[in-house]
Amino acid sequence: DDVVLRAEHISVTYEGERPTHAVRDVGFELRRGELLGIAGESGCGKSTLAYAVARMLGPPARLIGGRVLYRDRTGAETDLLALEGDALRAFRWSRLSVVFQSAMNALNPVTTVGRQFDDIFRAHRPRMRRPERYERARALLDMVGIDPARVRAYPHELSGGMRQRVVIAMALALEPEIVIMDEPTTALDVVVQREILDEVQRLRDDLGFSVVFITHDLSLLLEISDRLAVMYAGSIVEYGPAERIAADPAHPYTQGLLRSFPDLAGERRALRGIPGSPPDLRDALPGCPFAARCDHAFEPCGTETPTLVPLAPGLAPGTSAACHLHAVAGLLPEGRQP
Ligand code: SF4
Ligand code: MG
Repeated sequence: DDVVLRAEHISVTYEGERPTHAVRDVGFELRRGELLGIAGESGCGKSTLAYAVARMLGPPARLIGGRVLYRDRTGAETDLLALEGDALRAFRWSRLSVVFQSAMNALNPVTTVGRQFDDIFRAHRPRMRRPERYERARALLDMVGIDPARVRAYPHELSGGMRQRVVIAMALALEPEIVIMDEPTTALDVVVQREILDEVQRLRDDLGFSVVFITHDLSLLLEISDRLAVMYAGSIVEYGPAERIAADPAHPYTQGLLRSFPDLAGERRALRGIPGSPPDLRDALPGCPFAARCDHAFEPCGTETPTLVPLAPGLAPGTSAACHLHAVAGLLPEGRQP
C-alpha cells in the first residue's frame, strides 16, 4: 500500500501528582500525498498525539507506549520512536517537519528570514554553497507567495500571514515527505487563513508531501481533508474519508460537532453546542468517555469502553467509529441506515 507513516497504540501521560492520560492507545495511518485531518476540542490530545509522532514531547509529557513506523519509497520501515541523536534530527527536517500555530515563536526575531533558511541548510546540507543556499531561500519564499527580496526582512517587518508563510516555506526547505501542521492558521483572520490553506493544498499537489493537519475547526477540516480522525478525551472516536463523515457522521460526538456550526452550503441552522464537558483525563474512564454527554447512551456505555470498529463491510479500510451503537443491530444513531 501507499502508507508513509503508521502510528500504533500511542499513549502519552503528563506526569504529576495525578497523571493526565492525554492520549490513550491511538493509531492512525498517513498515506502518501494525502491530507489527514485530526479534529477535536482543545484538550482532546490531538496536539500531544502529533508531537509524540514527531518525537517532540518533553517533560512532563511521557510517551508510555506505541510505535511510529515510517516507510520510505523502497518499502523499508523505520521506527521513529527508536531514533536518537543525529538520526532523529536529520529525520525531523528531511523527512518530517512541523508547523506550529504561532509563527512568531517559530521565527527568530533578531535575524533575517534569509539567515534562518541559511541555518537550516548549513545544519542539514553542509555541502550546499552560500550562493546556492541564498537562491534556494529566495525560491522557497517565491513558492509560498512572498517576494524573494523579503529574504532580507526581519520577522517583525512581515504581517502575521507572511510570517506563517515563511514558517511553511522553512518546513518545506528540505523537501520532507510529511508535514505536521498544528493549528497553522488559527491566529490569522479568515481571508488570510483561506489564502494559506489554498497555498498548502497547491504545494501538496505540486510537491506530493503528506500533511497531518490538526485543528479544533471541524468545518475547515471537512473541506480540506482527504481523511479525518475525530478525537475525544484522548482517543479517536471516528475515522474515515472526510466526505463520508461530512455526509453521514457515525459517532454521536461527531454528530454533535457537526450540529454546532452552521451549514455553509444550506440554510443556517440554530447553533447548538454539545451540553456538558469532556471528562477529567486524570481519572480512569470506565465505559465510553462520551457517555455523560451522549443522547444515545444505553446499557453497555457506562462500563464497557468501545473500540474503533469498521462501520460496515466493504467500506474503505479505516472507516470506523468507537461507539457501542455500531455493534448492536437495530440501534444506529440518527441518519444512519442499518
Ligand atoms: Fe454514546 Fe454509548 Fe456510543 Fe458512547 S458508546 S457514543 S455513550 S452510544
Ligand atoms: Mg493544541
